Amino acid sequence: MASITLDNVVKTYPDGFTAVKGVSIDIADGEFIILVGPSGCGKSTVLRMIVGLEDISDGELRIGGEVVNDKAPRDRNLAMVFQNYALYPHLTVYENIAFPLRLQKGQFSETEIDEKVRRASALLELDEHLDRKPANLSGGQRQRVAMGRAIVRDAEAFLFDEPLSNLDAKLRGQMRTEIARLQRRLATTTVYVTHDQTEAMTLGDRVAVLRRGELQQLASPRGLYEQP
Ligand code: ADP
Ligand code: ADP
Repeated sequence: MASITLDNVVKTYPDGFTAVKGVSIDIADGEFIILVGPSGCGKSTVLRMIVGLEDISDGELRIGGEVVNDKAPRDRNLAMVFQNYALYPHLTVYENIAFPLRLQKGQFSETEIDEKVRRASALLELDEHLDRKPANLSGGQRQRVAMGRAIVRDAEAFLFDEPLSNLDAKLRGQMRTEIARLQRRLATTTVYVTHDQTEAMTLGDRVAVLRRGELQQLASPRGLYEQP
């Protein structure tokens, strides 16, 4: 687990468009922060810079106090959960969850992998589905597998990119509760992108509101409500 600091971070895309215009946010170790704002305001860009899928044009990104601007994604040890789940269709639930551990070649024995996969799947109530393929799961179960793959290793932080947007309203409410519970239990630093007001107001310790690439507000959900 680690703090994440954005220090005047800028992103200018190769076509010359500046999508993020000097954003500074201090995310404490263990904090759950929500990035919210209208489509196109730069939420995904910020998340992709944190995880290392986009270069930072200017400013500094620190994870656990260490500058990581030039670090490859795999060396940042962050776990990202995507909107479309990004599961491997030919692999079982078990192997999907085990995948990040197998990537770290030779680091874990089969016994350790088995222990970690079973612990993660128990937390997410996937125990009975370990042998199934993603195509045979419900949307909510697929989302849980994607989360299982994130929590199976000891990542410094979880990054969520609109993880519930493909689910129906009822399931979304249920998964929202689950994510909140899981985050409290694991106390892992979490950055969560959404354009859903309910998620923004109920999930996080603080909400960062972006608008046209700038940080417009940064407050607790209650603070945001009292000072619109
Ligand atoms: P959000 O996640 O808030 O919807 P994004 O971070 O995806 O916003 O995009 C922010 C802005 O940057 C948008 O105007 C988008 O069109 C632009 N953008 C995103 N990716 C690229 C890219 N690869 N090249 C140029 N512009 C981009
Ligand atoms: P989001 O769901 O985050 O708003 P989009 O559907 O806008 O994402 O974008 C999907 C992909 O297209 C992203 O990888 C983003 O970088 C890219 N993209 C978005 N806007 C542009 C753009 N103006 N030029 C080039 N690529 C873009």
